Amino acid sequence: SRGAEGARTILFEARMDRELRLEAAMEADVKAAVAGEAMVPWFQPVVETATGVIFGVEMLARWPREGGEIVGPGEFIPLVERLGLMNELTLSLMRQAFRSARDWPRDIHLGVNFSASQLKEGTLSPRLLSLLQEEDFDPHRLEVEVTEDALLNYEGAAMNALDTLRRLGASLVIDDFGMGYSSFSQLRNLAFDRLKIDRSFVQGMRGELDGRIVDAMIGLASGLGIDVVAEGVEEEWMARLLIEKGCRFAQGFHFARPMPADRLARLLAGGRTL
Ligand code: C2E
Ligand code: CA
Ligand code: CA
Ligand code: CA
Repeated sequence: SRGAEGARTILFEARMDRELRLEAAMEADVKAAVAGEAMVPWFQPVVETATGVIFGVEMLARWPREGGEIVGPGEFIPLVERLGLMNELTLSLMRQAFRSARDWPRDIHLGVNFSASQLKEGTLSPRLLSLLQEEDFDPHRLEVEVTEDALLNYEGAAMNALDTLRRLGASLVIDDFGMGYSSFSQLRNLAFDRLKIDRSFVQGMRGELDGRIVDAMIGLASGLGIDVVAEGVEEEWMARLLIEKGCRFAQGFHFARPMPADRLARLLAGGRTL
């Protein structure tokens, strides 16, 4: 049995070795992909719930690989973070998005996700400012999406980065609202423009508790004079119930899935209503 255990150990070590090599290869791939603009922005429409009119789009990172596979952000963003390349990636995606936006109606808003680390560093905003100028993108169309937890961990620095973007005219959006830790003082101090109700509440909203939570979120937003976006609207009944509840904006597979730039341009060329 000691022999079997020895064999198991060797097998285990071989597997570890292979995994480490795979990870190193993946790291090299990710580095090259970020540097070579191989990662691209996809876009998901955000609509006015009652009319289906497209208000804006959220930019979502995708990595098309040889062979046609499209890799989602869950698989590479943690690695990009670990390599310290999040700002590089975001700026590369935004540059591509700003160029695509030349084909869109001028008032389509663009939502961009910023992670906690990007708020902490505070080095993003000067580079973003020059990018906006270089690409001639109106900052008033920019919506900066941050989660509650990103704000919690890096309060001081986050405020500065967000204030800068704010001064440029960008909107601030709380992402995944209800899933993290937020306080009323944050809502007050940061003067958010919008909050995005996390899809778990939206999808559970036929239940009494989630229904009341969604009502409370919409009530809170309206009391603060800000707008709400419901995320993860997958079914007709969700859209209908959200209209009843007075939720102004919605996003989800029921309206449109995330799509590449050329498909979005064709969609917008055909009209603003989904
Ligand atoms: P998120 O910011 O909450 O983005 C919404 C996610 O929900 C997207 O997943 C979108 O495809 C998905 N979604 C949209 N509608 C529906 C629906 O009706 N049902 C369901 N089940 N899902 C829906 P995706 O594209 O896989 O992105 C996952 C997360 O990765 C994002 O969550 C965001 O946190 C992060 N992410 C994506 N792109 C970027 C980026 O460029 N920078 C940063 N920092 N994070 C990004
Ligand atoms: Ca988001
Ligand atoms: Ca979200
Ligand atoms: Ca999320």
